[in-house]
Amino acid sequence: MRLLLTGARVLTPDALSAPLQEVLIEDGRIAAILPPGTAVENAQRHDATDRLVIPGLVNGHTHGHGGLAKGSGDKWDLALLLAHAGWITGGRTLEDKKLSTTLTAVEMLKKGCTAAYDLPAEFPAPTVEGLDAMAEAYAAVGLRAVLAPMVGDLTFFQATPGLIEALPEPFRSRAAGMRGAAGADIVGAIAAAAKAWRHDAQGIRLGCAPTIPLHGTDEFLKACRALAAEHGMPMQTHVAEARYQAAGGEIRYRATLLEHMDSLGLVGPWFSVAHGVWLTQSDLELLAKRGAGISHNPGANMRLASGIAPARAAIRAGVTLGIGTDGSSSSDNQNMFEAMRLAAFASRLWEDAGDEEWLGTAETVRLATEGSSKLLGLDGGLIAPGKPADLVLLDLRHVNWSPLNDAANQLVWTEDGSAVVDVMVGGTWKLRDRAVLGVDEAKLSRDAEAAAERLRGANAEIRAWCQAVAPHVACHCRSLAKGWTRSKRLLKAE
Ligand SMILES: [Zn+2]
Repeated sequence: MRLLLTGARVLTPDALSAPLQEVLIEDGRIAAILPPGTAVENAQRHDATDRLVIPGLVNGHTHGHGGLAKGSGDKWDLALLLAHAGWITGGRTLEDKKLSTTLTAVEMLKKGCTAAYDLPAEFPAPTVEGLDAMAEAYAAVGLRAVLAPMVGDLTFFQATPGLIEALPEPFRSRAAGMRGAAGADIVGAIAAAAKAWRHDAQGIRLGCAPTIPLHGTDEFLKACRALAAEHGMPMQTHVAEARYQAAGGEIRYRATLLEHMDSLGLVGPWFSVAHGVWLTQSDLELLAKRGAGISHNPGANMRLASGIAPARAAIRAGVTLGIGTDGSSSSDNQNMFEAMRLAAFASRLWEDAGDEEWLGTAETVRLATEGSSKLLGLDGGLIAPGKPADLVLLDLRHVNWSPLNDAANQLVWTEDGSAVVDVMVGGTWKLRDRAVLGVDEAKLSRDAEAAAERLRGANAEIRAWCQAVAPHVACHCRSLAKGWTRSKRLLKAE
């Protein structure tokens, strides 16, 4: 089928301008970019007058399971978020897992996102049915996705050096007695999911995400790599997100977290870091050398007081950089326009950084499109012949665009997702006139309300325990962090 978008302004591949152009779409891809009024035969026409057409934004890092947990916390840093994970993500039925992923995917689509790198959690271990249900959720909404179950064979309490010993009783005994699933069972479940996988044709791939290096034994991390290699899966890991983790890595490994992962063979072109706030200069060089990437998630980093990731230093080192929101339990929305805005803002906060260090608006748009696409292994993120027709149409009569002064500047500084009217993925409409075509949004909202109510009841006991242990966790992790700074060989914004 051939479709011609007419009358629109179309963002150029360098994102520097948006001239009036027509876009011809054929078999799910962009066939041609044409001057207005070009005669095109045998094509359905779609009047896109007063629309700005941009490539779909690509979320480099999120968690579908966060959809039901948005707004759960306030003054949490990462350690506190992890300490509360038992109740914010626990007790989920198969239906809850699908529902949460649907909520996340719907929010992304409505805010102009067409693909996501999703690290879903299931407790105590991923399941074939769970991953299948989450993939069905993405397929119904219509987004492309990498679904990489986030896994570890150590609990947060086991993973954090000195934490169990630092807890007073009765917390110490309970924390020490907690166990995750066995590594072999986790890897076996992902392998079974890979064998049963039926979603590649819809652009939904399975990946593998050993969640945090400290949360996996070396044997487990190596087994994850072997599994991913066997099935050609992409891998992503939260690396050096918070300072207490960088400190914990040095204590446990006598190396940086990334150096340790590299010594186990995990770092390569298939691999991306989520966050990387406390990566060192040599870590960045190592990532570049291995052809690996980073998803820069400034909203979550600010919300959890993690710090500012060295985005410019990563680009300068030659690392593939994308942008992400992180999950809704830590950001707490799925708004890639906001993520772009915060990435550009954050780059201006590096001490002594001159304007050559800052992320420009066109550059930021390309990070959130082409850059993130590369992390997902997609050949997209720009409007050019041969690229997938993953397109977002913004209303130029919306107040965000009245008047249109500069497309890139307004995409990053002004747009907040509210001017998104239509979205197509692979040449097929998924959002029309702001309505998600594949999902009953009213029912989704009712289901979410009912599930949240039930989960509050089911998780009340674990919630009370998490709240009681939290101050002790915070105290220990903050003291770990305090003792650690980037050493001389480590990164400093020049
Ligand atoms: Zn995350």
